[in-house]
Amino acid sequence: MTVRRQTGEGTWEDVKVLRYKAEGSALFKDVTRQLLFGSAALGCELRYFEVQAGGFSTLERHEHVHAVMVLRGRGRCLVGTQIFDVAAHDLVEVPPLTWHQFRAAAEAPLGFLCMVNAQRDRPQLPGEEDLAALRRDPRVAAFLAG
Ligand code: MN
Repeated sequence: MTVRRQTGEGTWEDVKVLRYKAEGSALFKDVTRQLLFGSAALGCELRYFEVQAGGFSTLERHEHVHAVMVLRGRGRCLVGTQIFDVAAHDLVEVPPLTWHQFRAAAEAPLGFLCMVNAQRDRPQLPGEEDLAALRRDPRVAAFLAG
């Protein structure tokens, strides 16, 4: 399909709204995933994630990078030890092996495009030591606590 029409806020023609990850595989809350585009030639995928108000993505890191463009709503993200307020059309780069998490605002969803390599390593989840190191920064601790 050359043009895939938007059918609503964060939905497109013939694009399935999928679960974010298998339940219980990692800690997250109220996130959906859609595969908008994939190309073997480009070696990339463009996904759309939507985090409902009060929800959050998995805290994770991996070798592959993300280019994230917020499309709707607002929230905050953690990238490494930095915390940013983000809203529609902000672009977020997540470098390799950098802890990251996206949190929707309490009263608004956070929808974003995420471009990744088609072939990519599996996300690593933080262990107790990683969490302790992250929480040493009180701002990061507050972010992770919601
Ligand atoms: Mn990630």
